[in-house]
Amino acid sequence: MNNWIEVSEPRLGHNLRTIAAAAGPDATVLAVVKANAYGHGVSTCAPMLARAGARWLGVTSAQEGAAVRVALGAASGAEHAGVRILVMSGVLPPAIPALIEHDLTPVVWTVEQLRWFAAAPVRVHVEVDTGMSRQGVKPGADLEALLAEIAEQATVQLDGVFTHFVSSEVVGSPITTHQQRLFEQALAQVARSGLRPAWVHAANTSAVDNAADPAWLPSLARSLGARTLVRTGLALYGHTLAPEGEPGHPHLHDRLKPVLTWKAGVLDIRDLAGGDRVGYNATFTAPSPMRVALLSVGYADGLRRELSGHTSGDGGWVMLHGKRAPILGRISMNLTTVDVTHIPEARTGDVAVVLGRGVSAEEHARIAGTIPYEILCGIHPCP
Ligand SMILES: *Cc1c(COP(=O)(O)O)cnc(C)c1O
Repeated sequence: MNNWIEVSEPRLGHNLRTIAAAAGPDATVLAVVKANAYGHGVSTCAPMLARAGARWLGVTSAQEGAAVRVALGAASGAEHAGVRILVMSGVLPPAIPALIEHDLTPVVWTVEQLRWFAAAPVRVHVEVDTGMSRQGVKPGADLEALLAEIAEQATVQLDGVFTHFVSSEVVGSPITTHQQRLFEQALAQVARSGLRPAWVHAANTSAVDNAADPAWLPSLARSLGARTLVRTGLALYGHTLAPEGEPGHPHLHDRLKPVLTWKAGVLDIRDLAGGDRVGYNATFTAPSPMRVALLSVGYADGLRRELSGHTSGDGGWVMLHGKRAPILGRISMNLTTVDVTHIPEARTGDVAVVLGRGVSAEEHARIAGTIPYEILCGIHPCP
């Protein structure tokens, strides 16, 4: 393997504890490990999180959940027993046997979905749609019907009720306030139904980061006899979105530590003469003699092509011997050229940091015009 990722277990544990402290004593952290643990490797991260004390993990599909269950089982130690796994996107009937076999907890929001569970006992979390128009049941008549069906169905136990925020990175957003009011209505309906979920939850990373009223959900939950979860992914891995709209807001970001280091080997060093061009379509021309290093990483591994360098500058960079080595010319499928003119100690066989100390997912996201989520879950080193 010519490029690879390394994950720091102490840092992952530190972030989990930092989120738990920020979320408050009443909340339990559900560690989101979907999308291959945001590109960090789920079979590595899930056991690390369990060892650090996580009691809930979140995945997208039953297949992912089954893989997490297997990874937990393969790791030694009693801390893995009883870890709950929430399958956060909808499941279809073919996935139900795997769901039952691996003791996964599905998210449901339609009566039709509930009927798929008529054969086997299952604990479900109901998602309430308070504004995403994605998954979830609307408060009111639809939720009423769903709760009635749950009460009917002997095999189904209502274990959780939750919603998902649209704009939680916007501090003081009226959309969030509106969602909170709708979720309160939904929880009042649940209370009237006589069903007693064990868990209620709403917050993701940005909601924990920006919580204007950290007591809001715990106090609602208590009135139902339930506890709260916070479903955090991005912060676990040491990142956040920049909060919008309240400069100087005390911010989780400074207390988190990036967990991942993405490294690539230096395959060759060469000297360029002034006027030599670099890479496809010759987007970079050496203005004067230069020394460049060839790295064994490219866009097939998830290195965004938007980080390519131009003669005018302003591309991405890697770190080599603790210094910035700017990317020159177009990033290729499996190869990237960087400037090491100012790093005379650079040698073939050195290891460059593609993402890690000195170059962050937030910086890649800014240059590539996207969010750190997409940068991280796009990392998949080719063998
Ligand atoms: C992915 C996901 C999360 C985690 O979001 P972060 O912003 O990474 O903390 C939480 N809840 C649901 C439903 C998700 O799909």
